[in-house]
Amino acid sequence: MNVTAQSVWDNCLSFIKDNIQPQAYKTWFEPIKPVKLTNKALSIQVPSKFFYEWLEEHYVKLLKVALVKELGNNARLVYIIKMENTYGNKKPFTEKIPSANRSNVKAQEIDVPIKNKSPELKNPFIIPGIRNVKIESQLNPNYNFDNFLEGDSNRLARSAGMAVANKPGGTSFNPLLIFGGVGLGKTHIAHAIGVEIKDKYPEKTVLYISAEKFTQQYIESVKKNTRNDFIHFYQLIDVLIIDDVQFFSGKSGTQDVFFHIFNHLHQNGKQVILTSDKAPVDMQDIEQRLLSRFKWGLSAELQTPDFETRVSIVKNKLYRDGVEMPNDIIEYVAKNIKSNVRELEGAIISLIAQSSFNKKEVTIDLAKQVVEKFVKNTKREVSIDYIQKVVSDYFQMDVSTLQSKTRKRHIVQARQLAMFFAKKFTKASLASIGSQIGKRDHATVLHACKTVDNLSSTDKQFRKYVEDLTKKLSL
Ligand code: ADP
Ligand code: MG
Repeated sequence: MNVTAQSVWDNCLSFIKDNIQPQAYKTWFEPIKPVKLTNKALSIQVPSKFFYEWLEEHYVKLLKVALVKELGNNARLVYIIKMENTYGNKKPFTEKIPSANRSNVKAQEIDVPIKNKSPELKNPFIIPGIRNVKIESQLNPNYNFDNFLEGDSNRLARSAGMAVANKPGGTSFNPLLIFGGVGLGKTHIAHAIGVEIKDKYPEKTVLYISAEKFTQQYIESVKKNTRNDFIHFYQLIDVLIIDDVQFFSGKSGTQDVFFHIFNHLHQNGKQVILTSDKAPVDMQDIEQRLLSRFKWGLSAELQTPDFETRVSIVKNKLYRDGVEMPNDIIEYVAKNIKSNVRELEGAIISLIAQSSFNKKEVTIDLAKQVVEKFVKNTKREVSIDYIQKVVSDYFQMDVSTLQSKTRKRHIVQARQLAMFFAKKFTKASLASIGSQIGKRDHATVLHACKTVDNLSSTDKQFRKYVEDLTKKLSL
């Protein structure tokens, strides 16, 4: 039989598949493409540097065994990094890293300048009058990786966070920017990374701070004429975690000082971790030079967790609190509270409280009441992603088809319906709807809304679509 890169890799895969979890296989091995085979060297293409680092970190032994089985003792693996969908605006590049070489290289030693132990150093965390030399990390140990449940919605962010925690400053994710909507776990992951680093590297100075507090400290330092001390303090930190950087919007002084601190830390191989409620491209009133730095490392999105993940989050929380609750109730709550983990937890807590105060059993009826309050109080808004999903499912096509540039009539109609419902059910602007549904402009969205209005008054079949979808979306 002809031995090709493909055949060798296929055999490796079937061996690997038998030896790891299906989810891990899917995440880390399915995306790999075998590219070529020369002598005993198999070249495989991986989608990012992160991917390559992850494979080397976790699966190098398995890969080696599989490859030696196929190609004999002097088998070699060559990674080709091909970034197709890059995060940020880095140009795609191809880099070859022979695995054999890399394994000989010890973790890169970074020369860190001797810390300046000047007694004058002002620590903005010091309450005046209290001497405090050690920098307290301000971390919350209750937010750790163990209790941050993994799901498709957070896998990238969680894995990247763990990679950073294993080698702070030593991966290509610097800065690591975690972004996503309210209550999806940004603060939790940010702490978890810090907690893990403190655990692994107790000698490292880790600092967690909200962007808001950072801003206040900065303003204070300007008032007191201690701006240099402020900068100096932050430049001494090994791992700086800043939560909710969107707060820097429009604050040019704070942005400027953060820019200098960031550069210093980055140049010295220190790790910076940021969170934000938006992707860098969508951040408003943040200087370009800062935005471009945010994109240097990795931006990982936290999405809304799927139903299974929501159920596991709830179960885990109940388990930790030592509370038992029937499965159908857990599922009812998880089914109805979708977009925010904090609300999900809130509903469960409220349910427990109600049942214990009133000495009532937790029943489906009680759950319904509680959920109703939560859902009402928070003005549930369907997301544009959700609308696209529902519309594509209804017409039995993929979301990517719905978004594609094609002019096929039924696809165009589906896309117009998605735009129409996005306008109807969300507060998003026409421009924002357009950019989320296949990168169209606001005029296209406006046209879509008009077309749907017209068609539903003239075309019976079309009216049925609108009615069905309205029902599905308002459930
Ligand atoms: P954000 O900072 O994004 O607004 P938080 O980090 O404050 O969100 O998370 C809100 C709540 O949801 C926290 O109590 C957090 O522990 C919990 N949470 C979010 N995601 C998860 C998860 N995947 N597993 C467990 N708990 C989670
Ligand atoms: Mg937060």
